[in-house]
This record gives sequence, C-alpha cells and structure tokens, in this order.
Amino acid sequence: KKRNPGEVEFHQAVEEVLHSLEPVIEKHPEYAKVGLIERFVEPERVVMFRVPWVDDSGKVQVNRGFRVQFNSAIGPYKGGLRFHPSVYLGIIKFLGFEQILKNSLTGLPIGGGKGGSDFDPKGKSDEEVMRFCQSFMTELYRHIGQDLDVPAGDIGVGAREIGYLFGQYKRIKNQYEAGVLTGKGLTYGGSLARKEATGFGLIYFVREMLAAHGMDFKDKTVVISGAGNVAIYACQKVQEYGAKVIAMCDSSGYIVDEEGIKLDTIKQIKEVERKRIKEYVKYHPNAQYFEGQQGIWSLKCDIALPCATQNDINLESAKKLVETGVKAIGEGANMPCTNEAIEYFLKNNVLVAPAKAANAGGVATSALEMSQNSMRLSWTFEEVNQKLDEIMVNIFKSSQAAAKEYGMEGNYVAGANIAGFLKVADAMMAHGIV
Ligand code: NDP
Repeated sequence: KKRNPGEVEFHQAVEEVLHSLEPVIEKHPEYAKVGLIERFVEPERVVMFRVPWVDDSGKVQVNRGFRVQFNSAIGPYKGGLRFHPSVYLGIIKFLGFEQILKNSLTGLPIGGGKGGSDFDPKGKSDEEVMRFCQSFMTELYRHIGQDLDVPAGDIGVGAREIGYLFGQYKRIKNQYEAGVLTGKGLTYGGSLARKEATGFGLIYFVREMLAAHGMDFKDKTVVISGAGNVAIYACQKVQEYGAKVIAMCDSSGYIVDEEGIKLDTIKQIKEVERKRIKEYVKYHPNAQYFEGQQGIWSLKCDIALPCATQNDINLESAKKLVETGVKAIGEGANMPCTNEAIEYFLKNNVLVAPAKAANAGGVATSALEMSQNSMRLSWTFEEVNQKLDEIMVNIFKSSQAAAKEYGMEGNYVAGANIAGFLKVADAMMAHGIV
C-alpha cells in the first residue's frame, strides 16, 4: 500500500487474491526464493499519456490515457479499454491485475493488461467520440500490436469506439493488422458471438455452478444490475433458460417489471437510442422506475447478477440479499462485490461465481477472434458459441478442482484465483527472474 498510495481498488483486488493464494505459497516455497509474488503484483510496464482533442464548440479538451501491460508470461498482453470519468491508475491496475488470472483461466495463450481514459463518452457527439479515439490511438499505437498487446472494449468502449480506434491504427501503421484489436465489427475482422460472449459466458458458468449444487435457472427470479453489453446478453441467455428477470439498472436508477423485463425494449433504449433506462416505463406502464441504483439489491430474488461496475454490492447490500433468500451471485462485472460482501455470502452458504472466472467468456471469445484473424477465416455463430460454452465449462471445472485440492470445496472465488495463478506462476518460474 505504501508503494502504491491511493490505489484503493488495486489494493482490494490484490488483497483478495493473495488471501486465496496463502495455501499455494505455503506449498511452493520455491516461489519466495525468486520473488515471484513481488514480481506478480508489479506491472511489467505502465504507459500514461496526454489525449488532446477539440470538442464541437472548438474548445480544446485534455484527457489522460492509460495502458498497463501487467504480465506477458503466457502470451501477449490482452485486456479492454475503459472510457469513464472515474478512470485513474488504481482502477486500470486492478483491472489489469485481475485480467492476468482471468486470461490464464481461459486456457488460451494470452497475458494480462488493461487501459483506458477518464474521457466520458456520455453526451458526446459521434464526431467528438471519433476525434477523441483518433487522438488516443495516435499515442497508443506505438505500444500495441497483434503479438505484443491486444486491447478490446470495456465500459464506454463498444463497437463504435473500436471502429474509430482501428481506423486510426490502420492509417498510422499503413497495414491491415486485424488482430491488433478485438471486438471489431463483422465487416472488418470481428467475430460472430463476441458481442454476446461475456453475458452468455456468465450464464454458462452459473449454469454449471448451480448444477453442481442440484439447481437450475428454471422459474428462478433474477435481478441484474447494469444495462450495458454484459447485462443485456446475460439477460437474454438467462431468459432462454427459463428464468424471470425482474429488474435492471443504469447509473441513474433501476426499473422493476414483475412480469419480466422485455429485453427488446432495453436493447432499443440502450443499443439504438443511447438513452436512460427510465424510458422503459413509457413503453411498459406497469413497470416502475426508481431513482438511484442501490435499492435494486433490496428486491427479492433467487439469483443476483451484478453486471455494471466495481463495488456495486457492499456488505449492507449483501445482507439484504441474504435476508431475501438469494441462492447464488454471478459476477458479470469486474469486482462488483466488495471483499466483505463476498465473505458474507460464503459464510451464509450463498454460491458465488467470481468475476475472473464467470466473465472470462468475453476475453476468451476475443482470443477466438484473434485466431480467426490469424487464419483469415470466420467461424459461424454456432461454432463460436459452442467453443465459448466448452471454455466456460472448463473454467468452472478447473475452479472447482483447485478449490477442492486446497481444501476449500465450493469456494469458487479461491478456486479461480488458484487455478489462474498456477499456470502463470509455472511460466514465470520457467522464464527466470525477468
Ligand atoms: P457498458 O458500458 O456496456 O455498460 C455498463 C453498464 O453499467 C451501463 O448500464 C452503465 O450505466 C452501468 N454503470 C457503469 N458505471 C456505473 C456506476 N458507477 N454505477 C452504476 N451503474 C454503472 O459496459 P460493459 O457491459 O461492457 O461492462 C460492464 C462490466 O463488465 C464492467 O465491470 C466491465 O469491466 C465488465 N466486463 C466487460 C466485458 C465485456 O466484454 N464487455 C468483459 C469482462 C468484464 P450508465 O450507462 O448509466 O453509465
């Protein structure tokens, strides 16, 4: 903490992981001899840069850009870009750190990294977003490449932003390097099912977790926070499995539709019109809208899927959820539960599908996009979705097995941390002190 003052989210992420790894470190004294943990928590490289751009009124705006290249032991750095006003180094480092373990869990050869900016795309015109993306890439291009570092989307970075970023990269480099970014549009190297992958993958993971404890989604009541990329496709898949989603939110407030959320309306409001979620009640007057977002965790549900942002469920919300009888939590967002909330859930026999494992479907499918780019061909939606499902089943199995091996059966939080870590640690040991 002294070394990284003020980076509270990074401290939180590291604390959780190191706690899970205690039995592993005890079993492997050779790690201590080569400072493996000390190296593991220090990024290989951090780039911070100025992003100047001109807004529609002709005024010069200056944002800050980040890329943290955390660990390349098992493959090129890989991780999304987040554009949100809350972004600072501590958030990018927490995301980059978790990304190392997540990417390892996918079983694919990708290292960990993350980037972004404190730019807020909300309320900006398409032209402003384009000018910002072009300026951002004018610096970032020298630090990335298909065999070096492959960024993707995250909060505030979707298909539109990836398109502008790719266009500028291609222009500067004067070459068509499709594998340098993932989450691309389908006409220029994107993969079918990438858009759906994180949300679908989350539901595949939770499906496996429920099945291991004799449960399924049929007729379960589900609450989802967020109404972005992850939330929308988690909602779609869980509805397909017969669950009833009664609430969703954005950062302004939440809607409750006891008859079940009509996802087409959410897609229209969020993906097409880019408007606020409260518009939903105009289409469905029986639904209700509430200002503020925390109240969503007071609703009675069997399964809670936090898919918005970090620290969405604190201890107080966790207590409310347990009181109303929640059975399982599926973390779609990164670190959506505080460490205290997770502890409380586990103590009260609530199953927790941890973000690193449960939302790894997005990056796994990004890696499948890279494979298709290398082979210069495209798989069908069904092929990609089938591969995604298999990957999520394997991630569940390895998290389950690691938890069991280290005497914490049913604790998938610890299991995912351990399973993800062991592969990276093995590669780092093989590479020597670098
Ligand atoms: P989007 O930008 O598409 O959507 C984010 C959603 O969360 C929006 O509804 C947004 O509301 C809401 N939200 C964001 N910040 C806050 C906040 N501070 N308080 C309340 N609500 C908030 O992002 P994604 O769906 O892509 O990402 C959601 C989470 O999933 C993030 O934690 C991300 O890191 C994680 N993730 C995403 C992956 C992907 O493939 N996209 C892969 C793995 C993890 P509003 O519009 O009002 O801001």
